[in-house]
Amino acid sequence: MIRIENVCKTYNIGKKNEFRALNNITTTIADNEMVGIIGASGSGKSTLIHLIACIDNFESGEIFIDENALRTIPEKVKSEIRNEKIGFVFQDFALIEDASVYENVELPLLLSNRRIKSKKAEVKSALDNVGMAEYVSKPVSELSGGQKQRIAIARAIVNNPDIILADEPTGALDSKTAADIMELFKQLHRGGKTVIIVTHDKEIAAGCGRVIEIMDGRIVQNAQ
Ligand code: ADP
Ligand code: MG
Repeated sequence: MIRIENVCKTYNIGKKNEFRALNNITTTIADNEMVGIIGASGSGKSTLIHLIACIDNFESGEIFIDENALRTIPEKVKSEIRNEKIGFVFQDFALIEDASVYENVELPLLLSNRRIKSKKAEVKSALDNVGMAEYVSKPVSELSGGQKQRIAIARAIVNNPDIILADEPTGALDSKTAADIMELFKQLHRGGKTVIIVTHDKEIAAGCGRVIEIMDGRIVQNAQ
């Protein structure tokens, strides 16, 4: 479960360009929910999922991932949570273009503290899940946008995390490819993952079980 309690996030605290990006965000996301986060550009969507993803810090309130209070636990524990419990998918894929599909998907396994029997088997299983097993040896640079996003999703799930976070994952894709990628997220959801997708796309949001709308760093709608 993800419990967000009165979270405030201010960039550049104490400086002239201080900016409060999140203001008293409170909500709970249950295990195996699929949630869309919508809102205008600059409303704080990315900031919010970066906090949940343990990528950034915040000055007040608390976020609990299961029993872990993110603002309080040591950085080391936080990075373990980031690596083991969370998979993150970016709009621009954030893959290493001149490395192979295999090398990209293997990366989180190299950072993991888990005992992994066979990295090859885990990479293959992740690629099977996104329908890309036959591309394992290809350089990422030779793939289409939709294929790259599939590889990025394989990288996000290779450690078998409970939570998948995606920041406008279909923003760089045509609508047909976007629908295919959305199907993949739904499949992960059906498989038991908690899925949170930031999106501008009304259809993508409509495909989520619940939509949270953010405006100027505040939740203005939170509907099932
Ligand atoms: P969204 O993803 O909804 O477009 P963001 O969360 O990226 O919005 O940004 C929310 C607000 O915080 C914006 O006004 C943005 O300019 C500001 N912001 C985001 N990142 C930083 C940063 N690293 N430093 C200063 N301000 C930032
Ligand atoms: Mg954003």
